[in-house]
Amino acid sequence: MSAPFRNEPLLELRRASVRDELRGALAALDARLPLEVPVAIGGERRHAPVLDSVDPGRPERVVARATVATGADVDAAVAIAAQAVGAWRDAPAGERAAVLARAAGELRGRRRELAALCVREVGKPWPEADADVAEAIDFLEFYGRQAVALEARAELEQLPGERNTLRHRGRGVAAVIAPWNFPLAIATGMTAAALAAGNAALLKPAEQSPGCALALAQALERAGLPAGLFALLPGAGEVGAALVRHPGVHTIAFTGSGAVGLEIVERAARVAPGQRHLKRVVAEMGGKNCTLVDRDADLDDAVPALLASAFGYAGQKCSATARALVHERLHAPLLERLRGALDTLSVGPADDFASDLGPLIEADARDRVEGALRDAAAAGARVDRTVGELPDDGWFVAPAVVAGAPADGAVVRAELFGPVLSVEPVRGMEEACDRVDEQSYALTGGLFSRDPRTIELVSRRTPVGNLYVNRGTTGAMVARQPFGGNRLSGTGTKAGGPDYLLQFIEPVVICENT
Ligand code: NAP
Repeated sequence: MSAPFRNEPLLELRRASVRDELRGALAALDARLPLEVPVAIGGERRHAPVLDSVDPGRPERVVARATVATGADVDAAVAIAAQAVGAWRDAPAGERAAVLARAAGELRGRRRELAALCVREVGKPWPEADADVAEAIDFLEFYGRQAVALEARAELEQLPGERNTLRHRGRGVAAVIAPWNFPLAIATGMTAAALAAGNAALLKPAEQSPGCALALAQALERAGLPAGLFALLPGAGEVGAALVRHPGVHTIAFTGSGAVGLEIVERAARVAPGQRHLKRVVAEMGGKNCTLVDRDADLDDAVPALLASAFGYAGQKCSATARALVHERLHAPLLERLRGALDTLSVGPADDFASDLGPLIEADARDRVEGALRDAAAAGARVDRTVGELPDDGWFVAPAVVAGAPADGAVVRAELFGPVLSVEPVRGMEEACDRVDEQSYALTGGLFSRDPRTIELVSRRTPVGNLYVNRGTTGAMVARQPFGGNRLSGTGTKAGGPDYLLQFIEPVVICENT
């Protein structure tokens, strides 16, 4: 664990040999589908598969069949975790980090197979599927090292005759409630942080992606994580709600939509009979992210960055740009370039290396996006889409550039989580900042400008958690761009950053007269 942290390198997808390996991994995976995902608690597995996750590009293909965790499973997982967590919490951080590093090694060894699983289970095109696996590895490696660093932190004043020590102790049992859109990376990140800090982690994966969660469970088991410290509790929202209510849960690490996040924050504030602690909630929620384009912006930089930020993974990233707020002088030329670029984008199966955009995750998502675009067009907006044919099967949506969308409509206000970019003129960057400031979301933001004064103005005024200047708004890297939103986008914690583990810690100060 002495080697400094380095981000896991991405695969060289331009190489024909790497593509062949990935195609081979996908074929081998397809031959094993559907995967069977049990409820896994304390080394025991319960198999009664009923909940299917399907390939969003070909919904008749069942990718995983999961057992649904019951209330009794939740109770058992919490009880076993509570027993196991004491020894884990008291173990040196280096021992915990070593287990996480071995789990990272397990994922690394299955790198191609797991990228193939992300392609199949959540319709991620290859580059993003590969990045998902790499990020999961990063989280395991990074948080292990952070736990070691935290243990060594001696930041208290000392006086003669007095020894002051600060201990960072795990809080206890953490419920990890994960979304489907980074099915391996985010589930792994929250789990790894909880474990690294000396907690047990009970994972409720999203109902759309239990297969990816199984890969994490297997990696932790093979890495030698003591039984009981991790449980896999697949199912629908009720399993998450049962974990949130449970008096034996100390921390809830949630990533998902604002609506569910707010419900969790409210629910977790209630102290149940017999509960002797306050629950802490780490909530990372949605966004409606704006990229500002000033009059001096270089459109050769801004156009590809906007396309990647708005349409990468078909707009299904919390960090995606949904609105471009463009100086009025550049509005018309930028719109023209974006409309022209639409036809260069290819929408198709996620496993096709030629596809820029794959499908949306489910039929409801497609209907939500199409409905919002219809409403905007009916209200007088101009909606441009790619013209190529969409696959017949699956939940594909043609990306859209919208101009003149009504200010109070869904295209401008709601998190659509699809490939829709609203392009809006502004008189200047002060006005653009005002528009960003009107929002209750504050996750990511972008700015294209060459003027240091504008960069300073926007950096000072922006409420968002992550601002990107002269680049796209997606693709935060562990350790380099700690990630998380403010306002109703999140509790202000930064995943992949130096302070994240503190969310899972109970500090104790010991003052000893010597
Ligand atoms: P979601 O519908 O909120 O679900 C997230 C998780 O919460 C799932 O495991 C879900 O289980 C569970 N859940 C649902 N209802 C619950 C309840 N009442 N109590 C406890 N848990 C409950 O979100 P999603 O559709 O999976 O993910 C997309 C959203 O996540 C977007 O809004 C996106 O912006 C956000 N996101 C944010 C970040 C960030 O870092 N800020 C990163 C990624 C995604 P079921 O699947 O069984 O319903």
